[in-house]
Amino acid sequence: MRTRNCLLVVLALFSPAARAQSQSSQAQVSDSSPFRPLTLPTPNEYRTASGRPGAKYWQQRVNYRIAATLDPARNEIRGRETIHYVNHSPDALPYLWFFVEQNLCAPNSITNQLNQPPLVFLGTAFDFSCQGFNGGGHLESLRIAGIDARRTVYGTTMRVDLASPLVSGGSLDIEAVWHFNVPPQGGGRMGHDGPLYEIAQWYPRLAVYDDVHGWNHEPYIGAGEFYLEYGDFDVSLTVPSSYIVAATGELANPEQVLTPTQRTRLAAARRSETPVAIITAGEAGNVAQTRPSTSGTLTWHFTATNVRDVAFAAGPNFRWDASGYDGILIEDLYRPAATRWQEVNRIGREAIKYYSEQWYRYPYSHATTIEGPIEGMEYPMLTFTPNSPSREDLQWVIAHEFGHEWFPMVVGSNERLYPWMDEGFNTFIDLGNAAAYFKGTPYGDSIEVHPLHLYADHAKPGEEQPLITNPTQVRDLFWVGYQKPALMMQMLRYEVLGKDRFDAAFREYIKAWAFKHPAPADFFRMMRDESGMDLDWFWRGWIFTTSRLDQAVDSVGPKPDGGWNVHLSSRGTMIMPAEVTVTFDDGTSDTRKLPVEMWNLGPSFTYSFPGKKRIVRAVIDPRQALPDVDRSNNGWPRNR
Ligand SMILES: [Zn+2]
Repeated sequence: MRTRNCLLVVLALFSPAARAQSQSSQAQVSDSSPFRPLTLPTPNEYRTASGRPGAKYWQQRVNYRIAATLDPARNEIRGRETIHYVNHSPDALPYLWFFVEQNLCAPNSITNQLNQPPLVFLGTAFDFSCQGFNGGGHLESLRIAGIDARRTVYGTTMRVDLASPLVSGGSLDIEAVWHFNVPPQGGGRMGHDGPLYEIAQWYPRLAVYDDVHGWNHEPYIGAGEFYLEYGDFDVSLTVPSSYIVAATGELANPEQVLTPTQRTRLAAARRSETPVAIITAGEAGNVAQTRPSTSGTLTWHFTATNVRDVAFAAGPNFRWDASGYDGILIEDLYRPAATRWQEVNRIGREAIKYYSEQWYRYPYSHATTIEGPIEGMEYPMLTFTPNSPSREDLQWVIAHEFGHEWFPMVVGSNERLYPWMDEGFNTFIDLGNAAAYFKGTPYGDSIEVHPLHLYADHAKPGEEQPLITNPTQVRDLFWVGYQKPALMMQMLRYEVLGKDRFDAAFREYIKAWAFKHPAPADFFRMMRDESGMDLDWFWRGWIFTTSRLDQAVDSVGPKPDGGWNVHLSSRGTMIMPAEVTVTFDDGTSDTRKLPVEMWNLGPSFTYSFPGKKRIVRAVIDPRQALPDVDRSNNGWPRNR
């Protein structure tokens, strides 16, 4: 019976009907290999398969001429601007989309209605709300060719319909007049503290129109940052004469707004490696000593070329330090109560130098940071940072905000959708800079493994969200937007590609996309193309899923020919290359790095160690460099 039964099964298996059934079920098997290709947009003449801008890559150009007045007595900014919009796209545009971001704090804004609690970043809370402030932007007029343009405002976005479509290659000028009350806390990114103003998201401006999404008009509601076109700016800021102004761009009229002493000190500072006081502690707030005029207003005139934004700060009682690095003016302006700020100039200078030498030379004439109420925010050439509780914290925030000059100010990715491409890449370069700045201290010598140590607390199954998640939907932005992508970059650099191979590829990415708009697929393709290694498996594990890594040594045993086998497995959903250290019975040891292709036939792999010596101990990931979620199975025998 038994035999006959088996024969029947065999016959059934080889019958034509069974064969057809077998083939049809085969046809339904999809590729579930961890090495299967990612589904990316088809390359085209705008974005190549190698991840570079294509032969017909285009982006829009938007130049702004803005004249604005800061009126502290009314806590108001009034402005008028002319926007020159050039349509480099191949498409005719029947309408334009703008951002009117002061509406973040309008009474019925999404942000004010949701009134969401702050996001916690370790010890720091990031409040993206307006804290109940009911203001909003007031657009008095918007004209094209002298005619009032038809416009519809939807919260922080605004659609402007054109009288006739703007043809490819065409341009137009838009004139706008507006005013707004300055919120004390404008979504954590701008505001004022008494007479000190930190002003950003302040002028009506164009959304990006690109070949990837068309108009990028995702509203500004809090967590998601900005995606802006590059252009030239000409900005005139009229403020009380007692105020000092710092802004994106070059000051065009120093003779009118600075004293002869300040101009002399600035010239000296540009050549000095140590900070020169442009306004000393004794002079801060003393109008007679610090201002060329003691009554009325002064107009500060700034110009900036090829930047994606302009911000400014203004206040009456700044101290001001400056030094020079490679012709770049490194500046910090701070209120006298900011006691830790003596060191800020050196911190800023070291950061700009480090990023320039490691990755891409700083392209602007100055790098300036302002001490004030904003918890840390970045704009081209200008950052807003608070007086921090500790030296390490202060260094981190100063260097982090300056790191944003590379991501996204130079490499102009879409922050509103992909925080990992700016906050994450920035955090990655910041870690190296912090380690260099504090080298030889316990903090400096451990800061680079910080993201790895955060893994267990933040990568919780069922709670963690993939890096590709839109930031407004992310519950743990500290992890998803900052620390995990930084860890991902460290893993790629140190554990997958190796430092030289990674660094060369990442530098090329920065160079190829400087002052342009890379999308995620461009980054993936460029890293693959430049490094010579397929990395789809890596991006899938780190960006598109919340895969977790669990490498294990299953067992060790003798081979028939006298050598020894180490049986390894990848028990999680993420794959990574492996490193294995074995100890032999004579007390010697050997470490082997195994390529990620070890997992291409499945989750088990047997490595035959060269030589005949008896292995008494084997450990996978012996440096504990990977985010392995279960280390209890990393050693064999288990009980050691
Ligand atoms: Zn940041």
